[in-house]
This record gives sequence, C-alpha cells and structure tokens, in this order.
Amino acid sequence: MIPFLDLKAQYQSIKSEIDAAVLGVLASGQYILGEEVARLEQEFADYCSVKHAIAVNTGTSALHLSLLAAGVGAGDEVITVPFTFVATVSAICYAGARPVFVDVEPVTLTMDPAQLEAKITPRTKAIVPVHLYGQMADMDAIKAIADHYRIPVIEDACQAHGAQYKGARAGSIGTSGCFSFYPGKNLGACGEGGIVVTNSDDQAKTMRMLRDWGQEQRYHHLLKGFNYRMDAIQGAILRIKLRHLEVWTEARRAHGRRYSLLLGGSANLRTPVEIADRRHVYHVYAIRSRDRDQLQRVLSEEGIQSGLHYPIPVHLQKAHADLGYKAGDFPISEAAAREVLSLPIYPEMPAWHVDQVAAALENTYVS
Ligand SMILES: *Cc1c(COP(=O)(O)O)cnc(C)c1O
Repeated sequence: MIPFLDLKAQYQSIKSEIDAAVLGVLASGQYILGEEVARLEQEFADYCSVKHAIAVNTGTSALHLSLLAAGVGAGDEVITVPFTFVATVSAICYAGARPVFVDVEPVTLTMDPAQLEAKITPRTKAIVPVHLYGQMADMDAIKAIADHYRIPVIEDACQAHGAQYKGARAGSIGTSGCFSFYPGKNLGACGEGGIVVTNSDDQAKTMRMLRDWGQEQRYHHLLKGFNYRMDAIQGAILRIKLRHLEVWTEARRAHGRRYSLLLGGSANLRTPVEIADRRHVYHVYAIRSRDRDQLQRVLSEEGIQSGLHYPIPVHLQKAHADLGYKAGDFPISEAAAREVLSLPIYPEMPAWHVDQVAAALENTYVS
C-alpha cells in the first residue's frame, strides 16, 4: 500500500520536539493566542520577508480578513479563478462580494493574466490569484494590471508556503498573502490554523482586531469582528515545524523532479511544468491525462492512493449556481478538472515509492 500522504511519519520524525512544545502549552495555562502565537507570527513574517503576520484559525478566515481589510464589502466584485479549492470563493462570499471568474492558463493552471483586464469593472475591489499546487501565479503580469487600476492583490498562498517568484516569497508580493495550516498543507498544524502576511501597518492592525471580536482593548469593540483566533497549541507546534520547512520543501521538490524524470517520456500523460524563476514547492504533484479515470483505477488496484485536485471547477458547483455560470465558460479549468491526477507526495515519502508509482503508470500503457 502506498499512501497519498502520511501525517504520522512527520510526527514520528520530530516527536520529542512536538511533545515538549505541547506539554509546555498545557502547563502554561495560556491556550489561545499568547506568546507562542506571537512568536510564530514574528517567525513566519521573517520567513516570508514581510513586516506583519496575523495568525488565525483557518486559511479561509485568513482570506476573509484579508478581503475585509482591503475594503471589500457588499456589492463589490472580486476576481479569482474557478480552478481552486472552494474556500477561495467562499471567503469572497463571506465578505458580501460577488466572485467574478477568470480562466487559468493551460501550463501552470493559475490565473491567466491575458484574460484578467477584460473582467475589471468599476466595482472590482480585489484580485485573488491562487498559487495552485505550490507554484505561484504570474505575479508580474497580474500586479501590472492591478496596479494600473489601483486594485489590491490578495494572494491565496494556502498551497504555497515557501514558494518563490523571481526570488520573492509567496505572500510578499500582494497587498496581503493568505496561508492555511490545515494538517495536509506544506506547513500543517495538528488541527486547524491559518495566517495572513502583509507589509501594510493599517491592514495588519485591522486584521488583528477583526480576528479577536474587533477589539484592541478587552470589551471595547471598535469593529464588528469574529472569533478567528489561533490556539496556542497550534502556534507552538507550527513554530517547531517552521524550523523544518525548508528541508521538507527540498524533499518535496526532489520527489517532484524524480516523478517528472521517470514520467517525462510517457505518451499518454503530461507532467507538471516548473516555470523558470518560480520555486515550485509541490504541495500537489498533478499529472494530466485524457485517461485520468483509468489511470486512477489502475493505481488503486496496485494499492496506490491518488487524489483529484479538483474534479469540479467552482463555477460548476451547485453551491455557486447563483453566480449564473455554465459549462463551457472556462474551458481550460474544465479540461483540467477532467484530466488532473495527483500522485502521492510528502516529504517523508520513501524515494522508492516514487519509482513504484511511476512504474505502475508506465505499465498501464503496455497493457
Ligand atoms: C486549503 C485551502 C484553503 C483553505 O484553507 P483552510 O485552512 O482549510 O480553511 C484556501 N485556498 C486554497 C487554495 C486551499 O488549498
């Protein structure tokens, strides 16, 4: 059996450090926010080369607060892509705004800058590119258009901890950048978690208030806020894990490159492309094939788990039918949804698993 992901392997590799950190929080009596979370914020801000980080309870909350801090509200439009996890779009709805989709470009499956400008209206209040699978969107092209219209860019970096674009970290290019610490993400908590990074003093201050009931001083509520605070146990665990993130990221990249080496010559599938000057952190290693369902069946028969990220683009989800989109509106996203197949990848994965998965895929073409 080859698992898609093995969270227990990561825990076992740093068990003594994690156990000590958790016990420390239990003994401290400080269970929400507090010193561990404040230190995580400083360390994560440093990691991303930004001024501020605001820790929250999920990546979705990070997106919600970023949108609110950028001034997005009822009646506004926010441009994003339909080929993403649904949370990107839900956060826009939470803010009371209308999601407006632009298709992805076919190589990286991230926001197509060539189609962006046509979607901008006087109501457009933010643009949310998604750094899908761990590779950043074309930020220069997106920023050039956004800056021309003075529209803030909010990076959905929930899959892209440590990714880079021309040397700049994910989250550091836009007005703000949002990360998830869901357990399966590249930097994962042992529970829920998220964080926003920004260089804006004003927006950081607003988001700090909004995550904690809109207060700076207890029981003095200046804004209509939320309970989006991070638990101290998650903060302590994430601080430990952040110290290992670069090594884990390099392990992911090595697995990704080995897959591409072994599968690069296959006639019936396409391997992901690493764009020059972008550091891909392989949250997901997704191949593409017209025979996707058959490949997944064959892998499953060989005891190899795989995933689909994502089988239905958001504009075709029932939950968002009210937006009025229909099949055919975003052909690149729709083709990707039919063709992508995510192979097992995680830092602790033994290299021979990569070889075994690649061999199983090769065999499907012989038969
Ligand atoms: C995981 C994810 C989110 C949401 O993060 P949660 O912590 O699960 O709320 C948002 N956007 C993308 C692209 C994601 O992968």
